[in-house]
Amino acid sequence: MRSTMPEHPLTITSIMRHGTGLFGDREVVTYTGTGYRRTTYHELARETARLAGALRGLGVDGDQRVATFAWNTTEHLAAYLAVPSMGAVLHTLNIRLFPEQVVYIANHAEDDVVIVDASLVPLLAPMLPEMKTVRHVIVVGGAQVDTTPLEAAGKELHDYRALLDQAPDHFDWPEPDEHSAASMCYTSGTTGHPKGVVYSHRSAYLHSMSVCTANAVGLGAGDRVLPIVPMFHANAWGLPYAALMAGASLVMPDRFLQGEHLARIIADERPTIAGAVPTIWADLLRHARQHDSDLSSLRLVPCGGSAVPESLMRALEDEFGVRVVQAWGMTETSPVATVAHADSWELRATQGRLLAGVEGRLVGPGDTVLEPDGVQVGELEVRGPWVTASYHLDEDTSRFHDGWLRTGDVGRLDANGYVTLTDRAKDVIKSGGEWISSVELENALMGHPAVLEAAVIGVPDERWGERPLACVVLDGTAEVAELRDFLRGKVARWQVPERWAFVEAVPKTSVGKFAKRALREMHARGELTVVQL
Ligand code: ADP
Repeated sequence: MRSTMPEHPLTITSIMRHGTGLFGDREVVTYTGTGYRRTTYHELARETARLAGALRGLGVDGDQRVATFAWNTTEHLAAYLAVPSMGAVLHTLNIRLFPEQVVYIANHAEDDVVIVDASLVPLLAPMLPEMKTVRHVIVVGGAQVDTTPLEAAGKELHDYRALLDQAPDHFDWPEPDEHSAASMCYTSGTTGHPKGVVYSHRSAYLHSMSVCTANAVGLGAGDRVLPIVPMFHANAWGLPYAALMAGASLVMPDRFLQGEHLARIIADERPTIAGAVPTIWADLLRHARQHDSDLSSLRLVPCGGSAVPESLMRALEDEFGVRVVQAWGMTETSPVATVAHADSWELRATQGRLLAGVEGRLVGPGDTVLEPDGVQVGELEVRGPWVTASYHLDEDTSRFHDGWLRTGDVGRLDANGYVTLTDRAKDVIKSGGEWISSVELENALMGHPAVLEAAVIGVPDERWGERPLACVVLDGTAEVAELRDFLRGKVARWQVPERWAFVEAVPKTSVGKFAKRALREMHARGELTVVQL
């Protein structure tokens, strides 16, 4: 029997109409470093229509890629809404990738237009001549910056405001097919070329609904959302679209991501929700402690991107009354897939519980599917309506397995759907046939007051095959023996490293994650001074 329900498309256009139409009095606020720019959603609707009209005037009349090279701002939000809604494809370029990667990505995606922040013109300029398919560059806030470095590339340059001023207030929005491409984002690709994930209108719509549920972020019309996580990295965790869907206001930090600025934004604009990676919160916590900052407006802080140390969650909660909830996801999963709501710290310290719609399973040696018993360790595989099933123009299917995405993350899964990651597949340490979780050791170490950062890598060992080497950045003083004793009782005795190195900083990838491969290479070249106990 067929249902009586229509094939009503789930589109970003409808999110835009709903948010800017029914919640016209809500606002998007962008921090300028010294003050704030404010736009109501009613005005945002006009801005969005004008941007679509301006892009149409530049010849964007199909599924051309309109790239952004931008921080979190009102104008970036307008592009998030206008580009997919007009039937084109929004491509958020990650400004933190290495220039050759950005160029590769822009060419691979065949970007037609780039919308760039004035503050990022110097970063874009040297790459632009290599971006073969780009015809137009639109500079936001262009009056504040010298755009001559862009001129040599031979592209047509436009000032965002001047372009929009000439465009009509109304745009005749088409009704896109829900399965058509709405936006795309490339993963940073720690090995090989970056890979493109293409989101559909439908996947973005369903992901936004999921983010709005209480098992995820639970957004409502009373919320003010501060997406600190960049809109160029995994869609700012879907917070912009979810906010429009919920009728929540948005507070945008632009490029001001230091603790001092963020503390000020939070005190002034009183967001109820703020999303950022753990390193940002660690920085903000340090600042807040020193300046007795007021973070009391925050009711929930989703945090992820890398493992969230329990010590960080506890400190924010105990000292500032801010509830941090860990979440896990990837560019490939739109990105939110699990969120760790629970009463016990044991479960809150996990990566979280699978959201409705996302299925997960663990796979062991020989691709056998393991029982979700919370004990066995394997690679996590996921699938669902907002989990990609392939990469853009890429023949390589090695990351997919019978319709599931191989996440490259290793850990445990329990019968209630809680995921505990112990490692990236490529970072696991195999000691005497047993796996040691580098992440567990790092988290435990980062709970020591004198440890700023800790990264643990596997190094060759004659007897055990591999043993952990703890690379520690100190914020104060501590002896190796003291750190070792600190770990005893927190992890199994045989897992406690006997090799230690103090480093100035842990090398980071272009998106700020620990670059353990670089550490392993430094060790192989004998560049780390290792103390062995
Ligand atoms: P990239 O691979 O481009 O850096 P992603 O942001 O897509 O970008 O990274 C996804 C990866 O980040 C996951 O596969 C996982 O390894 C890691 N990650 C994300 N959230 C968490 C978390 N809460 N705990 C541990 N690792 C996480």
